[in-house]
Amino acid sequence: MHGTMPLLTALNLRKTYVKFANRIEVLRGVDLDVAEGEFLSVIGNSGSGKSTMLHLLGTLDQPDDGTIHLEGRRIDNLPAQERDQLRNHTFGFIFQFYHLLPELNLLENVLMPAMITHSVWSWWLNRRELHKAALEMLDKVGLSHRLKHRPKELSGGEMQRAAIARALINRPRVLLADEPTGNLDTANGQHIMQLLRDLNQREGLTIVMVTHNLDLVHETDRVVRLLDGRVELPEKISLPAFATAGAGK
Ligand code: ADP
Ligand code: MG
Repeated sequence: MHGTMPLLTALNLRKTYVKFANRIEVLRGVDLDVAEGEFLSVIGNSGSGKSTMLHLLGTLDQPDDGTIHLEGRRIDNLPAQERDQLRNHTFGFIFQFYHLLPELNLLENVLMPAMITHSVWSWWLNRRELHKAALEMLDKVGLSHRLKHRPKELSGGEMQRAAIARALINRPRVLLADEPTGNLDTANGQHIMQLLRDLNQREGLTIVMVTHNLDLVHETDRVVRLLDGRVELPEKISLPAFATAGAGK
């Protein structure tokens, strides 16, 4: 169903960190809509609050003020258990430094989120199907030949591809990506970007991607910039040959 309602809506988000008697007002009233099926990129200087905003959107952290709705349902103030559910099923996360578990091989890393969301009993009942899903995800990211490798035996690009497979195993609605190419060379970064674009275009996966790389921004549907704790709309961002495709395609 394609409604007019945005998939994710953030309204007036505020977040202040207090450290050694310093107050850092990171977010000072962030408003943001993310449409279903949209590939949105978020830019902004280092320290402008991009990661903070992404964490709030994915219920990894809570705002001091403001609200976040997912399809009209408020999600920023849910009890811990319901937020766990959202993080396990609705949101997928990828990070600059992959965060794979070093003792596990790739297949096990990808299966991990599925293991966490099943009871021992339900895991046992569904193990073949889940195993199959993990193989399918690893195939999708081009890693079928690396199932038994541990993260340290892989390149950065391969580790990020494994992290994407892991983020997709529970079939999230929204992929939140925090500088996913930030630690990769251009070629590997392009490969990851191609993968994200395919997921977005072929499977309609909604993606919010924080990036430093302005070249990548051109390959997404829309860009917003964090500045002075607020989201600047695309009209105000002057990037060369910037595509102003709006939300919702
Ligand atoms: P970005 O991702 O845009 O680089 P962040 O969201 O990581 O920015 O951080 C924004 C600001 O908030 C920075 O000044 C950072 O030092 C500060 N900050 C982030 N997380 C914390 C925290 N847990 N405690 C204190 N300060 C933090
Ligand atoms: Mg960051």
